[in-house]
Amino acid sequence: MPSMNRGHKLQLYAYGIMAGDEFAKSSQEGFIVHQKKGLVYHVPFTQSITIDFENTLRKLNEVLSSSLLPFSSASYSQCTQCEFLNFCNDRF
Ligand code: SF4
Repeated sequence: MPSMNRGHKLQLYAYGIMAGDEFAKSSQEGFIVHQKKGLVYHVPFTQSITIDFENTLRKLNEVLSSSLLPFSSASYSQCTQCEFLNFCNDRF
């Protein structure tokens, strides 16, 4: 079974944390269903994902507190279709 990319795994892990807070239970794993092909990806929430998530969250908070936009390789056409464009408006 092919693996999902790092961003998808971290996003899923974040959802697991939020669900755990809401339902007072911990999440040990998650699943991603690929829309077009109907493939189901199993993502175990390992210690390595936990560490990667915590490091990424720390870096995100550093960027947010610095008020500087990070580099993005996104193209103009990608940005115009992005739900976060309101937060990146200074980019163009
Ligand atoms: S608008 Fe969306 S795609 Fe463009 S840089 Fe911001 S987050 Fe990335």
